[in-house]
Amino acid sequence: MAGIYVHIPFCESKCRYCDFASFPDKIYYAESYMACVYREMAMRREELKDLSFDTLYIGGGTPSVIDERYIAMLVAAVKKNFRLSADAEITIEINPGTVSAGKIAVYSACGINRYSVGLQSALDSQLKELGRIHGLRQFLNCAELLKGKNFSADVMIGLKDQTAADVIKTIEVAAEAGASHISMYALTPEEGTPIYTDYLNGELPDGDEVADLYEAGVKRLEELGFGRYEVSNFCKKGMESRHNMNYWRRGEYMGFGVSASSCINNVRLTNTFDLDEYFKCILSGHLAVIDREEVDEAGRKEEFIMLALRTSRGLDTAEYRELFGSDFLKEQAAAIEKMSEYIEFRGNFMRIKDKYLFVQNSIITEFLQS
Ligand code: SF4
Repeated sequence: MAGIYVHIPFCESKCRYCDFASFPDKIYYAESYMACVYREMAMRREELKDLSFDTLYIGGGTPSVIDERYIAMLVAAVKKNFRLSADAEITIEINPGTVSAGKIAVYSACGINRYSVGLQSALDSQLKELGRIHGLRQFLNCAELLKGKNFSADVMIGLKDQTAADVIKTIEVAAEAGASHISMYALTPEEGTPIYTDYLNGELPDGDEVADLYEAGVKRLEELGFGRYEVSNFCKKGMESRHNMNYWRRGEYMGFGVSASSCINNVRLTNTFDLDEYFKCILSGHLAVIDREEVDEAGRKEEFIMLALRTSRGLDTAEYRELFGSDFLKEQAAAIEKMSEYIEFRGNFMRIKDKYLFVQNSIITEFLQS
């Protein structure tokens, strides 16, 4: 199983917390950019001809901000260049402030069967504070347009003055609107973003407060029938994101566009984050790769451990043996003993106990140091 990711780096305006490759002032480049993405795909076609892809994820940025015809052409270009399975999961990220019935109709017609909606908060004051362009009303309209379709909603925790009741309200709004999947992420104040100043001024909740918000959110999600399958991802039965599951299982993936990365045959490639540079490379017939890293066995083991322990399923020790020809339990005996309070075993699987999943970083670090 392998996945394809395509990055659309345009947005209507820049959110206060955003450090993604997104260029609100360059949206008029969309047509040329998409032409370059189709070209980049054609350049990789031969090399990827034996791979079967099971998922396509169109992310950003805000893919829904550009003309919907480019999205339809993009899906067609993927199908033309690569072997995309007939029942592939095809997801598009949409911003509630940039959708319309016409856009959704085009998306559905071209085969998109999953939508990821950036709700973040059900409180207009918090959305404003984040610099989002939408309000609750737009989210509800968007959900109405998605009625009967498979969609996920993003919920953000760790916002200024956010209470557990706010988080619960946002989850309830998403669930009632019909989301079958909810991603609940903690805001990360990245240096250089406007929200970093709020963080420096001590205006954002601290780690313990965020953990409390997370716990309140998990409780409500579970009451509403959303099971946790990864630290930040919850869904109704059988509605896991296949695309993300592939990442967490260290599956192969191919990324196209500015800032996109790929990992095929244990070689990781990262594209430039610079839009002009991307144009220059592709138009002159070269890939826009700025970093190439061969992941050696130690690196592969580390990634396998790190990704598997983020999931509720945990790490499959039998799969570990199959992949690396060694015994995880023996190799990690010291860390297992040290972390015994935080982990548990179910058959072949070693997992972090539910109540410690949110603080998994420090637990995982022990296994990486062994
Ligand atoms: S919509 Fe997403 S990508 Fe665009 S500016 Fe906001 S956070 Fe960044």
